[in-house]
Amino acid sequence: MRRSAPAGVGADSGRTRNVGTFTVHALCDGVGTFFEPLSSAFPDAGATELAAAVALDPESFPPDGRWRLHFHAFLIRPRAGGAILIDAGIGDANAPAAEWAPTPGRMPENLKLLGVAPSDVDTVLLTHLHSDHVGWSVVNGRPCFPNARYVVPKADHDAVGKLNPRVRDEILAPLAATGQLDLIEGKVRLGPGITTVPTPGHTPGHTSALLESGDDAIVFSGDAVLNALQLVAPRVAYLLDDNPEAARAARLALLDQARLRGAWLATSHLTDPFLRV
Ligand SMILES: [Zn+2]
Ligand SMILES: [Zn+2]
Repeated sequence: MRRSAPAGVGADSGRTRNVGTFTVHALCDGVGTFFEPLSSAFPDAGATELAAAVALDPESFPPDGRWRLHFHAFLIRPRAGGAILIDAGIGDANAPAAEWAPTPGRMPENLKLLGVAPSDVDTVLLTHLHSDHVGWSVVNGRPCFPNARYVVPKADHDAVGKLNPRVRDEILAPLAATGQLDLIEGKVRLGPGITTVPTPGHTPGHTSALLESGDDAIVFSGDAVLNALQLVAPRVAYLLDDNPEAARAARLALLDQARLRGAWLATSHLTDPFLRV
């Protein structure tokens, strides 16, 4: 489901979108296989839905019945300068996600290739506190982005002991100590053109984001949409959703919003980081 590149755009265009005056880069931190069979990860999915999802994202559905997933973070670069990171990948070989995700991730190299220094990043939004979204926030007790405020949903912060105590101790505690932790609730403006969109359910505080510039828009879904199954059948729940009913409602509302706005969707775990809904 790779989209054809506009004429004159380089080979990397599948990983980059221009959104008005912003450039958005997909940073693929790794590609791995989920620890449960697909039929367990999305138990409500029927054969018809599966066939439609396979047609949309064939690489996610290898013949062995597993789920092959990418781990994307996104970098937003405003023309005026600075950089906003949406999620922080799976992290290094010692990160909390190393228990199941294909660490080490590639974010440091990916940023270097784009000519972005860690000190250039002014904002990091963690859509939620699952280990595969926070990995490059803090490494060896030190925040990776020294000048950034780290925006974290308060409801996930408050539930982190249940979500993952290592994330509390190894990610949140160092950010709190340096004064870089910024807890948010509800819809918050992160900067010109970019606002958070509360999408609770996958986790208690799960938060997506909307970037708008002129006629262009892009929705960063986080894990409100995990797999192509949830695009062809948004009612299909995910095994590990904290509240599947709330997650379903949030997903339906987010996809409606993207459709009405004519926005691109930037997904965490589908093969193609950008697609239209
Ligand atoms: Zn998640
Ligand atoms: Zn995830």
